[in-house]
Amino acid sequence: GQLELKDKSLLIQAGFIDNTHVKTTASGKRFPVFDPARGVEIASFPDMNTEDAERAIQAAKNALPEWSQKTAKERSAILRKWYDLILQNEDDLARILTWENGKPLAEALGEIRYGASFFEWFSEEAKRLYGEVIPSPSRQQRMMAIRQPLGVVGIITPWNFPNAMITRKFGAALAVGCTVVAKPASETPLSALALCELGMRAGVPKGVIGIVTTHTDTKAIGKHFCESLDISGISFTGSTAVGKVLLKQSADTVKKMSLELGGNAAFIVFEDADLEKAVDAAIMAKFRSSGQTCICVNRFYVHSSIKDKFASLMGERVKKFQVGSGFDNSTTHGPLINQRAVEKVHSHVEDALQHGAKLVTGGTHDKDSSADSGIHGYFYPPTVLADMKTNMKMATEETFGPVAGIFSFETEDEVLEAANKTRFGLAGYFFSNDVSRCWRVAEKLQVGMVGVNTGAISSEVAPFGGIKESGMGREGARQGLDEYTQYKYINMAV
Ligand code: ADP
Repeated sequence: GQLELKDKSLLIQAGFIDNTHVKTTASGKRFPVFDPARGVEIASFPDMNTEDAERAIQAAKNALPEWSQKTAKERSAILRKWYDLILQNEDDLARILTWENGKPLAEALGEIRYGASFFEWFSEEAKRLYGEVIPSPSRQQRMMAIRQPLGVVGIITPWNFPNAMITRKFGAALAVGCTVVAKPASETPLSALALCELGMRAGVPKGVIGIVTTHTDTKAIGKHFCESLDISGISFTGSTAVGKVLLKQSADTVKKMSLELGGNAAFIVFEDADLEKAVDAAIMAKFRSSGQTCICVNRFYVHSSIKDKFASLMGERVKKFQVGSGFDNSTTHGPLINQRAVEKVHSHVEDALQHGAKLVTGGTHDKDSSADSGIHGYFYPPTVLADMKTNMKMATEETFGPVAGIFSFETEDEVLEAANKTRFGLAGYFFSNDVSRCWRVAEKLQVGMVGVNTGAISSEVAPFGGIKESGMGREGARQGLDEYTQYKYINMAV
């Protein structure tokens, strides 16, 4: 039950305001954090309320003048040092992440490095926040546009990437001179606190980053962020339903919003695809984090001529998965985040089976595969379903679990229509060896990100984000800075 760490001081069960650990709140309440692989409590955090959140906001507000007036090079140096410290502590950070989130240790380590890459990237981009000198149409006026930080940014992050969803936002915000107040998911606050500890060691001044830990007052604190006159922007990653609530709540103060919401990615395999490569990519794009990422595939569309072959190849691969604790070296796939997630995934499978889907593998709800080892966590067996139909829940809802549902199609037009028939528009993938088709389909998929002959698209150098109800704004890349800055146009008469 104990977590072995090289540096035990990274395990912090507190909120974080003004570079101080906040261990108690006015109410004195705490909320538990569970190990999803065993279903037992592993930590507890102060259950902060809006008063505590307000203190964090004021701390960030007070820190803003000094932080925003540092040179970009100074901020860059701190971010770079933070990046180095993360890599030096990557094993501990990965262990903390696996403990609270459940993903296999190797995957957790991957997330830590991916998360760190945003600090590396934005420490470089910090120095390149160029404005513009605009050729003036008037001889008497000179025109330019400079870029300025938004101010204090309210950040709300999910549990599926407890590290990287925070660094992706912090990196960009801090690079341009914003200060931040973040509310991590109550399922995974340990990673957030460990990160802040390293930030403090890297020299992040007090007040620049704040962490509000809460469970009971999640909604109230979200509303408080949105309505606060001291917060200028909200950056949120999570469900579409909550994203809409935040957008509405922010209307009265006209905040700048950056929203990374749910997805319902299609993965299309055309008849001219390299089938083996497509299956490899499909496994990655579907089952990473046990299907709990927003760019995970939700719908496979496979040409009718190869659908059976694809389903059986996929089934063979999935049968070899080892489901278990993320700390076990043989584990390829960890648990889901909580029991509610298990129930939801199961309901999607049951619904598909009731409507005539064919079970290729998985699909049983008992804790079979790993129960022998005495594990009683939130597991769901990786599942492959064939003969999917449009009237099934999986066709339109986000499953967010280890279930691959395979639909079939005949023509390119038909499959594009099916793939686009959703209000989501985050990621899409397809496999084809026809170059013209690759261009056509990449352009016609209604999504923010497309993987052509690949299932791995995330990178700190590329703009991540969605269209339609999958959100607004882009994270990472050069564009990531736009979310945290405003242009100021200056006209100078001569
Ligand atoms: P998920 O299904 O991934 O848990 P959520 O959108 O519910 O997606 O959660 C993402 C983040 O949003 C978490 O930090 C969660 O605590 C927070 N959250 C949930 N509901 C609200 C709300 N009404 N206002 C603000 N934040 C919320």
